[in-house]
Amino acid sequence: MRVIDVETFVVDADWRNWFFVQVKTDEGITGVGEALSGEGLTAALEATADAHKHYLIGEDPLNRKQISRKLRRYPFAWRAGKLINAVASAFDIALWDIAGKYYGEPVWKLLGGKVHDEIPVYANGWHIGERTPENYAYHAKKAVEEQGYPALKCDPFAHYEYSLTDDQIDEVAELLEAVREAVGWNVGIALDCHGRFSRRGAIEVANALEEYDIMFLEEPVELEDRDVMADVTQHVNMPVATGERIYNNETMEEIVRKQACDIVQPDLTNYGSLQELQHAAAIAKSRYMTFAPHNPNAGVSTAAGLHLCAGVENLEVLEHMSRDVEWGDEIVKHDFEVEDGAIEVPDKPGLGVEFDAEVARKYPGEPKDSHSLFDKDGALKRP
Ligand SMILES: [Mg+2]
Repeated sequence: MRVIDVETFVVDADWRNWFFVQVKTDEGITGVGEALSGEGLTAALEATADAHKHYLIGEDPLNRKQISRKLRRYPFAWRAGKLINAVASAFDIALWDIAGKYYGEPVWKLLGGKVHDEIPVYANGWHIGERTPENYAYHAKKAVEEQGYPALKCDPFAHYEYSLTDDQIDEVAELLEAVREAVGWNVGIALDCHGRFSRRGAIEVANALEEYDIMFLEEPVELEDRDVMADVTQHVNMPVATGERIYNNETMEEIVRKQACDIVQPDLTNYGSLQELQHAAAIAKSRYMTFAPHNPNAGVSTAAGLHLCAGVENLEVLEHMSRDVEWGDEIVKHDFEVEDGAIEVPDKPGLGVEFDAEVARKYPGEPKDSHSLFDKDGALKRP
């Protein structure tokens, strides 16, 4: 079997684009992959995929290790950074899909088997809309009562950075108070800081919000300086999670060795390959830490996450979008359902999803910059 074609798709998904690849073989088997494209980088992903698809074309799609090695091992001035690892991830996921279909087995079995039949999930995206206690309460209730999520993550800090004033902390507390009133105290609440606080600012915020029984505090500070992240982790009374910006195991190993967090969160679609993610989980396990993949992505990434997590002993939870554009399920057809807080591990050959290229082409993504902290004049946005 040989790879004969690699096609890329940039799909509009409201506040961001999705990025998919479809890999075709001469035996008529096709595989689908996805790369992290949350910010305005889909044009760069597309160009990177085009520049690297020659590593796949003509190759045996079952020889993932050789393809991955050639793709990610840059010889001279460059190293494979986040962009190349994201494209490598999309290719790798598609090759796993092909392998599963070729052998007639689900990807989890080819990855070594499973220790979980169901993967616990938490909701993200549920609170999109106005940053008000009413909107938070309404959508929290919906996610928990109608959709069955046992836990909710949000970024209630919006566009603040470095630290919050007492008034700003009160505003965030009102949002969390409204969520607790709506869903009670048995539901997990995780807070995503997107790396925007200073060390002191993060500790102050965490101390002020501790009373809301926080499931984890995500990326309280940037992770470039692991010692600062470790210091925050040691000074707050809630678990700290981090990892979506990491794309290799050298960095993961340092984060884990320094006990810079409690839960590692590598992204399924920027880490180069599912086997590198298995290594990341193993590194975390060696220091008694848990694994909670970052997945604010589409259905292909979720499928890859379910197969990967099935075999991870130190699994904490998988991220899952509870609200997304309605054409997502038309493009990536699947039968995943959240039931009692978890999704059953798929048993169909490959990833267990069907990618509809025609529908994907109907929703082309335009360049977006919805995550900027700054307005047109360069001032910090104050929502
Ligand atoms: Mg995050």
